[in-house]
Amino acid sequence: MIRFDILTLFPDMFQSPFASSVLKKAIDRGVIRVSVFNIRDFTTDKHHVVDDSPYGGGSGMVMKAGPIVEGIEWIKSTNGSPRVILMTPQGVTFNHGEAIRLSQYDHLLFVCGRYEGVDERVRKYIDEEISIGDYILTGGELAVMVVIDAVSRFVPGVLGSGTSVLEESFADTLLEYPQYTRPRVFRGKGVPEVLMSGNHRQITHWRRKEALKRTLVRRPDLLEKGNLPEGDLALLEEIKREERKENDS
Ligand code: SAM
Repeated sequence: MIRFDILTLFPDMFQSPFASSVLKKAIDRGVIRVSVFNIRDFTTDKHHVVDDSPYGGGSGMVMKAGPIVEGIEWIKSTNGSPRVILMTPQGVTFNHGEAIRLSQYDHLLFVCGRYEGVDERVRKYIDEEISIGDYILTGGELAVMVVIDAVSRFVPGVLGSGTSVLEESFADTLLEYPQYTRPRVFRGKGVPEVLMSGNHRQITHWRRKEALKRTLVRRPDLLEKGNLPEGDLALLEEIKREERKENDS
């Protein structure tokens, strides 16, 4: 079981992502638990102010440290000892490996920024910072949903079959092989014969070769990173030979 707590100014945004499909079932089964807290509830002033203009001038507003830190401390005092994560474009870029790593925790608390971000002094209360990519969102909420969705898939009991996560893209530095389902012919296009053969050894070999081919074309950077086994290196040579032959003819 993993617990996800979220501190946000827009709790309503979290209603639908957890109300359908895999994540809803996981929540219903008690495999994951999601609690959303409104940062505004941790203000102490009459007007519940959560932001203010930046010292030194400049455009936009900055989220005040007080309500966020009060929120983190309240959750810690009532809900356990979560790992506290600030969503920010300045954080470590989230990826497959990070999703696996975070799935090992039993309690994560995400802080969603808005406006121009959070007062720098919040960082003292943060264990790590995560970005979901080199672009700027209007707030951390969508980023948290992405992270929770990806992390949950590695939590035991969330997905039906434990094997699917091992075969997917990035699981072993390769993109996944092409997938097909019924009908056998779609608008004149068939399915590779080998997939109909029932020969599992040949199917495994075809899938591995297609995964390598696809990764070579779309994400050659992944092949440079991975320590490919001998068999894959031989397959890659075969693919390159076939490509050269095709180009020559
Ligand atoms: N001024 C900030 C900067 O340049 O770093 C960007 C603020 S952004 C408009 C508002 C909030 O959205 C951030 O505090 C953060 O919580 C969230 N956010 C924006 N882009 C993000 C990303 N790529 N990954 C994670 N969170 C992001």
